[in-house]
Amino acid sequence: MAGRYDIVIIGGNLVGAAFACMLQQRAAACRIAVVDTQDPSAVIDSTQAALSTLHASAPQWIGSYDPRVFAVNLGSERIFAELGLWDAISAMRVSAFKRMHVWDQQSSARITFDAAEIYQPKLGSIVEQRVMLSALYDRLAGNSPANQASVDFFSSSRVRSLEKTVQGTRITLEDGIELDAALLVGADGTDSVVRDYAGIDTFGWSYHQTAIVATLATERSHESTAWQRFLPSGPLAFLPLQHNLSSIVWSVDTPDAERLLQLDDERFVQELEQAFESRLGGITAIGQRYAFPLRLLHAKHYCRPGVVLLGNSAHTIHPLAGQGVNLGMQDAAVLTQTLLKYDFPRTDRVFRALREYERCRKGENLLMLGAMDLFKRGFGSGLFAVKLARSMGMQLVGRCAVAKKAAMRRALGAAATFY
Ligand SMILES: Cc1cc2nc3c(=O)[nH]c(=O)nc-3n(C[C@H](O)[C@H](O)[C@H](O)COP(=O)(O)OP(=O)(O)OC[C@H]3O[C@@H](n4cnc5c(N)ncnc54)[C@H](O)[C@@H]3O)c2cc1C
Repeated sequence: MAGRYDIVIIGGNLVGAAFACMLQQRAAACRIAVVDTQDPSAVIDSTQAALSTLHASAPQWIGSYDPRVFAVNLGSERIFAELGLWDAISAMRVSAFKRMHVWDQQSSARITFDAAEIYQPKLGSIVEQRVMLSALYDRLAGNSPANQASVDFFSSSRVRSLEKTVQGTRITLEDGIELDAALLVGADGTDSVVRDYAGIDTFGWSYHQTAIVATLATERSHESTAWQRFLPSGPLAFLPLQHNLSSIVWSVDTPDAERLLQLDDERFVQELEQAFESRLGGITAIGQRYAFPLRLLHAKHYCRPGVVLLGNSAHTIHPLAGQGVNLGMQDAAVLTQTLLKYDFPRTDRVFRALREYERCRKGENLLMLGAMDLFKRGFGSGLFAVKLARSMGMQLVGRCAVAKKAAMRRALGAAATFY
């Protein structure tokens, strides 16, 4: 017999797991299930093992970092705080960044965003994916305050099929387990099976680029600054971690990425130092390199009756401004708030709630998606007129305090809350 749930969330990575925690905290009457290919206890164990090496020397610190680290803005931090998880995350490992310095290879344009200009202690934090997941999974595993909804986590499980039923959707997992969902949530990433099942079209394109990600140590301090240089081939970012460590995201055309990935460390570091103008001195140690293909995708609809999309399944964005997780967290907060407003699961107006969520999030997500695409194309162009426009644009924003502060406030994250 199939297990019956008010909500089944397919995808329990950052966005799906955060959404489950929000519901757990706020919708006590809700029966919730999460399905993911990952095993939460393995994530918790690997995080603890990595953090137990903190006394070691720099190269070992490099190995202790999850290659997936994200710039988490104050909006997302506030959501984690409302979940009562930010202290646990901070106690594991986070690195605050106070400034962001951006410069262009093809012109003299440069701009620095400083948290002090908007009277904030920081612009955001660089946090490892597995640190955030550990806190979320620990909560979902039941180490939570009383009077909260319980969540069944179907780990190491993949969806085999999705079928429409009178009450909603029947989910069959690859190991034969069946779940019935009144509301099916797709937090299953860019290649979402939930989106396909709901017949939701998308628009978008591949950038034919790959982001190379690695952790490294530099001679000089990063000064708690996120550094980003725009090259004609794509942006190169150094995100500050603890001590003199940084996490790089270097976006290049895919054939060039394949070449760079095959270089030995010494030759790779030489090219990287050149691309970065050795802003932080030499690179003294580097860890393993990882590759992520880059694409843009936007779902034409975020919902259908009985189905809703969150995070990357609804919108996949270029990582140059580090906003994907942040937008997904806002989706989850707004969907939680909207469902509660309509008294889910007791309501028969679920679709109305889903439409309201879609109206609230689509414009915001599209704006960010479009802005990042424009940046990517604008900085990639060698045309004189485009170079001039971007140089003038950066100088104007740099000199106009109002525009600069507005840009910073948007990047910090809107007043997201699920209360
Ligand atoms: C190089 C790079 C750097 C980035 N840096 C930043 C940054 O600094 N800040 C930021 O905010 N964002 C950043 N992003 C974006 C961020 O990675 C994504 O927006 C975010 O990971 C999306 O989370 P998600 O939970 O929506 O989807 P995903 O992380 O894709 O999770 C989907 C989950 O669904 C599961 N799943 C999928 N299909 C199935 C199935 N059939 N059955 C069961 N489970 C399934 C998967 O196992 C996975 O766990 C970056 C992206 C890239 C590529």
